Amino acid sequence: MAGYLGNRADMMVHHLAAMKEECNIYEVKKDNKRYFVPDTLEQAEKEGFTPCRYCIHR
Ligand SMILES: [Zn+2]
Repeated sequence: MAGYLGNRADMMVHHLAAMKEECNIYEVKKDNKRYFVPDTLEQAEKEGFTPCRYCIHR
């Protein structure tokens, strides 16, 4: 199972294991979903995604 999910519609990346209601991951359309290889936050940021403030704390 993937750890991180990017939403191309708003360029936010979510941590699936920590996702909150506010993330609205169920609203993300299939075509807008982006998984990362490797499955890391670093890779997501390299691809221009912003960490979600609800599920990613650093
Ligand atoms: Zn989130």
